[in-house]
Amino acid sequence: MIKINDNFLKLKASYLFLDIAKRVSDFQVANPDAKLIKLGIGDVTEPLPKSVLKAFHAGVDEMAGRSTFRGYGPEQGYAFLRDVIVKTDYHARGAAIEADEIFISDGAKCDSGNIQEIFSADVRIAVPDPVYPVYVDTNVMAGRTGPNVDDRYEGLVYLESTPDNGYFPDMPTEPVDLIYLCFPNNPTGAMATKEQLKQFVDYARENQAIILYDAAYVSFIRDESLPQSIYEIEGADEVAIEFRSFSKNAGFTGTRCAFTTIPKKVKASDSEGNMVEVHGLWSRRHSTKFNGTSYPVQRAAAACYTPEGQAEIHALSDFYLRNARLIREKVSELGFGCVGGDNSPYIWINMERDSWEAFDLLLNKAGVVCTPGAGFGKCGEGHVRLSAFNNYENVSEAMDRIAEAL
Ligand SMILES: *Cc1c(COP(=O)(O)O)cnc(C)c1O
Repeated sequence: MIKINDNFLKLKASYLFLDIAKRVSDFQVANPDAKLIKLGIGDVTEPLPKSVLKAFHAGVDEMAGRSTFRGYGPEQGYAFLRDVIVKTDYHARGAAIEADEIFISDGAKCDSGNIQEIFSADVRIAVPDPVYPVYVDTNVMAGRTGPNVDDRYEGLVYLESTPDNGYFPDMPTEPVDLIYLCFPNNPTGAMATKEQLKQFVDYARENQAIILYDAAYVSFIRDESLPQSIYEIEGADEVAIEFRSFSKNAGFTGTRCAFTTIPKKVKASDSEGNMVEVHGLWSRRHSTKFNGTSYPVQRAAAACYTPEGQAEIHALSDFYLRNARLIREKVSELGFGCVGGDNSPYIWINMERDSWEAFDLLLNKAGVVCTPGAGFGKCGEGHVRLSAFNNYENVSEAMDRIAEAL
């Protein structure tokens, strides 16, 4: 009899989005005329910027001519894209990252999910709580945890982010090897200062740990004193891997392009204690299991770095940040504690009641769909996440309705 990978059975079935969909459709059946406003999803709503689209089209046209046609591209991605990335995202911010330390891919979800493959089966993992579920589930699948008991997997170290610590995850109090961090955070919208990130970088350097830093929402940072890359912290280029994506800054959720940065200085030990460059392992993994992001998409991504592209993607995050500020303002007026919304498209609200109860209340009394915090971990209990991915009119109406309902 062929056997399955039993670890998959440990996964707490992700009822979250199914459960939300079920409650929403029940509501719609009962209230066929109600206009629902969805502030629950983590997907963008605005179309691709003009200059991106133009480059995308031009890339497609090149594929139509024999002399300009492209087949398989370079495995790490085209140099025209990697070069503008290091110049704009790193060198301009004082981070000494080189183009050959960038790996272009089709998504930060895949990369942040696949990265664990290159580490040993018995590395100790720390994740924030609440957490982007990808970091947890991929390690469960790989067999690095025990069963899920009381909403937590045995064997994982959970770094709590709560109202008490300003939603900045606690430092690990037991030894860990891999630490997942995400700033601006999904789901909380919280951002880390340089001093806060330095604590983790120092921890990693002292304990020979590696930080997996997800910066998918970096384009929403408006406070210039905040770090946009973990490599702005001294010494991070020896202990951190960074994930970036064009999904949230340029609307590529349906177009697909991202990159992972692995400085050659990041090393980990083999079973005999020899230090090995992690870069080489990921390079091998990437070229074995991935055949590149399509040429027109890489052209489209590169257009984000032209002066027009930069202005357009800035305007795009401004569009969502205007919504986020309004949500934050209204929630604060109502007297709820919250975080996010200033350098992030998410607002994490302390509803001080069961998070599904809060979800039902907003749905049934205000016709607004949010995401219940409990779906992101134990520390999400009591909270809901509102997303700024919608238009201003809808967000404004949603907040008026919420004010009336509560
Ligand atoms: C949206 C998101 C990403 C981006 O994923 P893609 O696969 O690049 O679309 C990565 N990390 C987090 C936390 C996200 O919310």
